[in-house]
Parts: sequence; C-alpha cells; structure tokens
Amino acid sequence: ETPPGLPLRVNNLKKEFGGITAVDGASFQVEEGTLTGLIGPNGAGKSTTFNCITGVHKATSGHIHFKDEEITGLEPYEIAQKGLVRTFQIARELEEMTVLENLMLAPKNQRGEAIWRSVTPGARRGVIAEEKDVRKRAWETLEFFEIDHLAHEYAGGLSGGQRKLLEMARALMTDPEMVLLDEPLAGVNPTLEEKILDRIHELREQGQTFLLVEHDMDVIMNNCEHIIVMHQGQVLAEGTAEDIRDNDQVIEAYLGE
Ligand code: ADP
Ligand code: MG
Repeated sequence: ETPPGLPLRVNNLKKEFGGITAVDGASFQVEEGTLTGLIGPNGAGKSTTFNCITGVHKATSGHIHFKDEEITGLEPYEIAQKGLVRTFQIARELEEMTVLENLMLAPKNQRGEAIWRSVTPGARRGVIAEEKDVRKRAWETLEFFEIDHLAHEYAGGLSGGQRKLLEMARALMTDPEMVLLDEPLAGVNPTLEEKILDRIHELREQGQTFLLVEHDMDVIMNNCEHIIVMHQGQVLAEGTAEDIRDNDQVIEAYLGE
C-alpha cells in the first residue's frame, strides 16, 4: 500500500533487454506536490525507468505503485487513465493537424477510446467528455502555455521548443495527478527553456506533481527540490541539490562519462 502523499513508489525495479540490464533494482519514491528530478549519466537507465513506470516497457521484475494501486505491467493508456501521464513526441499523423486539434484529441488518446465515450462529465476529476468542454479547456491550456497564437498552425511546422510546449500542453489537457517528463528541454532555445520551466513551477505551485528526467545536471539542480541520481541501473544517491552536489559518488559517476 502506498501511503497518502506518496503518489509514486518504485520498488526494486529491474529491466533486462536480452543480455543487457538497463535497470538493476532501482527503488525510489516521489512525494505529492513535488518537482522531483531523476538524473544520471548517459546509459544510467533513466529512460528505461521512465518507460517502465508509464507502461511503455514491461518490467522484468519489481513493483510500481501509483497512489494505492499497483500499476506494474498495465498498458500506457490504463496508467494515463489513473492520472499518471507522460509526454509523447508528436506523432506523424498529428503533424498534419493543427495545434488546437492536437489538444482536442489529447484526452481521447491518453484515456483510451472506450473511456472517452463512456465517462460522463465530472465523473472523475479531470475527465472531460463534451466537445465544447474540451474546446474550452484546449484554449485555456494554449493560453497557459502561451501558444494560443499558434492554435491554427500545423503541428508539423512548429520549432523544437514550440513542440515541447505542445507536448506538455497535450499531457496537461487530461488534468493529470502526476506528470512525467523525459528531457523536456532537450534541443530547446534558452528563451523557451525558461518559459517551459516557468510553466512547470507554476503548475507545481498549484499542487501538480512532477517527475522530471534530465541528463543536464544544472537544470535539475536549479529547479528540483528532490533529486534522485541513477547510475548503472541503480539509485546512487538521493536528496536536495546541496546533498547531491557534494556527493563524491555522483561526481565520479558524471566524470566517468
Ligand atoms: P538513459 O536514459 O539514462 O541514458 P537508458 O535507459 O536509455 O539510459 O539506457 C540504459 C541502458 O539500457 C543502456 O546501456 C542502453 O544501451 C540500454 N538500452 C536501453 N533501451 C534498450 C533497448 N530497447 N534494447 C537494448 N538495450 C537498451
Ligand atoms: Mg534517456
């Protein structure tokens, strides 16, 4: 059982690909309402951990709990339905749709067709079934991310940073309880990087829980209140930026890249 206030708990997670052990018994927790960072050198197992939590990969062993439920082995849409969402790169079909259309489709994709059709408005926190409600929320979300001026542009024509904003906006359309972001700032120019981080902080102040996966140590150090460091598929260290900064094992792991 996951106690209240502890939405995500990863326990002894292991993932093997053939003979390669990508995640080797990682255990950590994410507290409610925090902006928690997961860092580590290249190949540490961050993305694999992220993919196991979100159901994209099936764990070889171990347990993942979201709130009071075990989610190990569930499909990505089932995990999203429970309020644990991730960003996805804009798929090719979606590039040929406008930014607004992308947002309007997001709850449908994330929550799964059946749920989309069957759920009545307000049945669960954040579930939105009526098209006019979806449209209203889409515009509010576009305004929040300051991309409303791009509403009628094709998603395929956006810059790298604008795409990242759209990906986050799509995730937020479902009013999730927790958001997982894998390298949300990769390839983003400094102006948009600041904007994305500002949005994350604003949402966090509203009580949103985030797990941010990043290779760039400085981004995590400057923005996350709790940091988990992975190395060789395991959790090497955990704590605040101050704790991590002075940890010899962490410094060594990054130097060894
Ligand atoms: P990170 O995101 O921290 O850079 P990854 O989780 O992507 O690390 O990778 C961890 C290890 O697992 C690496 O050695 C990588 O080569 C390996 N790996 C990741 N995905 C696969 C896969 N689909 N098949 C085989 N090996 C993989
Ligand atoms: Mg990665």
